[in-house]
Amino acid sequence: MTLNWIAPAERIQQLPPYVFARLDELKAKAREQGLDLIDLGMGNPDGATPQPVVDAAVKALQNSANHGYPPFEGTASFRRAITSWYRRRYEVDLDPDSEALPLLGSKEGLTHLAIAYINPGDLVLVPNPAYPAHFRGPAIAGGKVHSLILKPENDWLIDLAAIPDAVAEQAKMLYFNYPSNPTAATAPREFFTEIVAFARRFEILLVHDLCYAELAFDGYQPTSLLEIPGAKDIGVEFHTLSKTYNMAGWRVGFVVGNRHVIQGLRTLKTNLDYGIFSALQTAAETALQLPDVYLQEVQERYRIRRDFLIQGLAHLGWNVNKTKATMYLWVPCPVGLSSTDFALDVLQKTGVVFTPGNAFGVAGEGYVRISLIAECDRLSEALYRFKQAGIHY
Ligand SMILES: *Cc1c(COP(=O)(O)O)cnc(C)c1O
Repeated sequence: MTLNWIAPAERIQQLPPYVFARLDELKAKAREQGLDLIDLGMGNPDGATPQPVVDAAVKALQNSANHGYPPFEGTASFRRAITSWYRRRYEVDLDPDSEALPLLGSKEGLTHLAIAYINPGDLVLVPNPAYPAHFRGPAIAGGKVHSLILKPENDWLIDLAAIPDAVAEQAKMLYFNYPSNPTAATAPREFFTEIVAFARRFEILLVHDLCYAELAFDGYQPTSLLEIPGAKDIGVEFHTLSKTYNMAGWRVGFVVGNRHVIQGLRTLKTNLDYGIFSALQTAAETALQLPDVYLQEVQERYRIRRDFLIQGLAHLGWNVNKTKATMYLWVPCPVGLSSTDFALDVLQKTGVVFTPGNAFGVAGEGYVRISLIAECDRLSEALYRFKQAGIHY
């Protein structure tokens, strides 16, 4: 007997298919055909977790005190490690009990925050293109997403002046993310000051995703929302250990900022999950306490790949500006090809995987996102295949 006459809830049915899942199908097909794939599609870092973090996890695993349910609100010592890291990195003081909450990766928190704050029909402002959780979370919560269309001529910054007052007055929440996935754009500090003023004026909950806090190059230091005076009154900021510390599989992130908002999310999560395995919280503390030389190594690894790929693409006709942060290049498709057509064409002809820009929203059409998640020898092989296949801008 099949149960296909019991339909999933509308909140699930209304979601468009997750593009990465669709890409996985196509990749599986290409593999079956014997193609040696070079996967630059996902945002999954390719390196190993730093050895001191692995060592700390192994040690914590041996301690049976860590084997039970962790405290709902995260271990006190991980929360203290988070607030100490904030103080060190941004000179921002936070209360570890009320202004910091560990998460099972930031994606979980970004979506659950929408469920904790959005009633069906509530208006949520979300940039387009954006990281999928920023619009899918509000959609799952039943919110109405108002897209803030980002444009190359604005350097992919949100144009706050273009938001009609009537829309801003209705909006309850605004998600944003600089340095940005997928566009790799960064926002100057003045932009953060403006968006805080905007959110305060219209009483909008500001949600900043700073998951590329430390993947920045050439001396650039990304701004934290909480560095801006008054931001804590209306905002929260999400962080992840997935990217900087190559810990994507560990599922560790955190949110900091306004205590009421954090309390709302904590209340929801108390009813949904038990948080992160305590042994992993101990390891995560070690990650946040790693000496800066570790960060410099990671940054250098991505910087070298960035420079290598930008130079290689230049030989094929692309003029890609040097990105100041993230592990992505955001590259225009050759004229006349849609994102999907171009990504499929490249995959079929060369076995190289890009993410079509429209996976991040309609305004990502015309671009592909290339992740810097392979060593230069593989990037070199990819460039060689493009040349052979006649792929150029
Ligand atoms: C990778 C990524 C995340 C997800 O991080 P997790 O902590 O692994 O869930 C969140 N936001 C953006 C913009 C990302 O690129």
